[in-house]
Amino acid sequence: MPEGHTIHRLAAALDELYGGQSLRASSPQGRFADGASRLDGQVLLGSQAHGKHLFLPFGPRSDMPLDDASVTWLRIHLGLYGSWTFDGDREFTAPHAIGAPRRRVGERGEHALKGGGGSALTGLNGGTSDAVGTEGADDASSRVGPDPEEWEPPEPRGVVRLRLQGRHGVADLTGPAACELLDAEGVAAVRRRLGPDPLRADADVEAFVTKARSRRKSIGELLMDQAVISGAGNIYRAETLFRVGVSPFRPGNRVSEERLRTIWEDLGPLMEYGVATGFITTVDLDDVPDPLPPEDPEAGRWYVYHRTGRPCLRCGTPVAEREVAARRLFWCPSCQSH
Ligand SMILES: [Zn+2]
Repeated sequence: MPEGHTIHRLAAALDELYGGQSLRASSPQGRFADGASRLDGQVLLGSQAHGKHLFLPFGPRSDMPLDDASVTWLRIHLGLYGSWTFDGDREFTAPHAIGAPRRRVGERGEHALKGGGGSALTGLNGGTSDAVGTEGADDASSRVGPDPEEWEPPEPRGVVRLRLQGRHGVADLTGPAACELLDAEGVAAVRRRLGPDPLRADADVEAFVTKARSRRKSIGELLMDQAVISGAGNIYRAETLFRVGVSPFRPGNRVSEERLRTIWEDLGPLMEYGVATGFITTVDLDDVPDPLPPEDPEAGRWYVYHRTGRPCLRCGTPVAEREVAARRLFWCPSCQSH
């Protein structure tokens, strides 16, 4: 499942590709036919993400305020199997959606950026690219599309729940866990059930601290609980707990408020880097081994994730792995002993 930074990238890219345009909406699969027909011909008014949920407001006119009663919100959650596929002419790009990629990783970490990192659409096709490292290999944005007069929308491939078509390209949604229309109250109701998202300007760190402190579940599990904090997934939870030096097994109600705030403050910039580049890179440059061991390439971007048995980049202790709540959890038993 994509982590939250991917959904924020997607939101920014869709806004840049389609914002202010009247779109054609259809459901080639048929399962979202009623919803698509309600959206068809309406204007995309913006784009928002909260954790792993994408919210797209549509209205009859482009100058419509988002709180107008005639605004319809499309909510999409990709879940485990959802993905977007983009196709368009050479105007169909979103280069500004992400800003310039910040090269926090220097020369030694440069390999982490190979194959992309500068495109807003990188890593959106397929969803789990951060885990397998094939970002940018073959998506719409890394190819130069044809001239606008030569481009034709392709036939939908697979079971396309929703196709959004603008002047220069199409975005096809397949296999989402959720794809539904809501009014503003419906959006607010969904968001009330979600914990704060470190990538949102309106996020409230105190809500995270209060929720985590009220639970006996381990902090490793709580960081994956979208009702406690939104957007972090398996990589971010493992990496931030290492960076902050907290045992993933410590119960939430026994993690101090100060340490919870430190986790939050660590996650924000890590996730912003993910939004800017499409990559989850968490290793500080000083900790990247030089040279990078060929048998341990993950050491260039992750401290513990997927590094079972490898030496901890800070203390040399072998990285440990255990299955917790059906997900693989990675940590350093020395650096994260309490
Ligand atoms: Zn260590």
